[in-house]
Amino acid sequence: MATTNLLVSEKLTRLGTETAFEVLARADALSREGKDIINLGIGQPDFKTPGHVVEAAIKAMHDGHHGYTPAPGILELREAVAADIYARRNAVVSPDNILIVPGGKPTMFFSILMFGEPGREIMYPNPGFPIYESMINFTGAKAVPIPLVEEKDFSFDADDVLSKITPATSLIILNSPANPTGGAVPAQEIDKLVAGLAEHPHVTIMSDEIYSRLCYDDAPHVTLLGRPEIADRLIVLDGWSKTYAMTGWRLGYSVWPASLIEMATRLCVNNHSCVNAPTQFAGMAALEGPQDCVDEMLAAFNERKQVIVDGLNALPGVSCRKPGGAFYAFPNIKNTGMDARTLQNRLLEEVGIATVAGTSFGSYGEGYIRFSYANSTENIKRALERMDHFLAEQST
Ligand code: PLP
Repeated sequence: MATTNLLVSEKLTRLGTETAFEVLARADALSREGKDIINLGIGQPDFKTPGHVVEAAIKAMHDGHHGYTPAPGILELREAVAADIYARRNAVVSPDNILIVPGGKPTMFFSILMFGEPGREIMYPNPGFPIYESMINFTGAKAVPIPLVEEKDFSFDADDVLSKITPATSLIILNSPANPTGGAVPAQEIDKLVAGLAEHPHVTIMSDEIYSRLCYDDAPHVTLLGRPEIADRLIVLDGWSKTYAMTGWRLGYSVWPASLIEMATRLCVNNHSCVNAPTQFAGMAALEGPQDCVDEMLAAFNERKQVIVDGLNALPGVSCRKPGGAFYAFPNIKNTGMDARTLQNRLLEEVGIATVAGTSFGSYGEGYIRFSYANSTENIKRALERMDHFLAEQST
């Protein structure tokens, strides 16, 4: 990151970024030049927010909900989140342990700030959501990767994670179903990890469950909630962005143990005061209203998943595992003869397909690229056809 001779804090120079936003900007620029770009880069549903959710926000505006709300969020919304957690994850959580925050990201930002400093170690999935590693580096803690490998369907090995814990390990970050791999960690691996964590009572766990509603039939979501062994040191990240196609609203929630909730609330007060009120009313309508919108999106993603996985496996030099959740395919592209960044750039500039190189998600992502299949089946098929021509040309 370029800095001038201004006395900018050194730790800000260690902050990384999310390449998907850079790809999006370049894809938009190419589209404005008149190029036909198929966007399989950014991770956001291509659906509109359900109408009844939008109406709830409009009503809140008309009803005069224009002011600050309590910093942890409107009580009725926190109660709705607690009821939803009970209904879907069979875990009892008090509304007092829930914070409403502007999106999924603030929960990872706050937990890494809370547990990261020089001399500490934070474990994180690699390849994984890039902000984990970025924030760990920002705090000066040592970033210890949990390698997610294709041979294990991008799940992790609990014994491997447990063996890397040291007295300096302050936080372990987990994410299932995962970005960028679509991998879903099986229940037995989570059980093993939780049992092993009993030996390491100084370690806090942050479970990023933002794709919890986007799981496919053979891989039901496994939550870290409802496990007494770690309940006093578990932070859970979730939100509305992916489940209800609300990425632009900036609405998320987190569950905090009693010992951390005050500190987390203080971070909210220092950072954003509260989430805007109409959005919180929209969030309530989403949780309490009809859920067929979520089922319909999931069914569409499921169908597209099949199309993209089959299509990728038919391409020369490409092989792709079946994702267990989220809306990402993460094919192995090692036999194309190109590295991940080269293929990402050439697909965008020469073929008109936006994707994200696996290396944008950490060093273990080399040899892979991420396709977001939150786009129409027709566009996915068009992209696959274009890639087929392009890759066939490379090999002749
Ligand atoms: N966690 C993961 C694993 C994600 O993939 C994302 C977004 O892509 C987020 C968190 C952030 O979600 P939000 O856009 O609600 O901040």
